[in-house]
Amino acid sequence: MKTGQSAAAGSLHYGLVLCPSCNEIIDTLPTNRVKIFHSLCDSPACREAAARSAGLGFAPPASGAAGEGERP
Ligand SMILES: [Zn+2]
Repeated sequence: MKTGQSAAAGSLHYGLVLCPSCNEIIDTLPTNRVKIFHSLCDSPACREAAARSAGLGFAPPASGAAGEGERP
């Protein structure tokens, strides 16, 4: 009987931590399966971009103020 050892020692699965802005691999995490996490890198530009997309995604279009009629 053979002791059940993982055949391929190099087939370790890791979770990748990617920056959603620049898609850079920030870090890897030992996980059971291949997973992809998203975290911001140290780049201030990425943080700012993520803050914008997360906080103020789409500014609601200024609905026509019902006060002024359309005048040519
Ligand atoms: Zn980044």
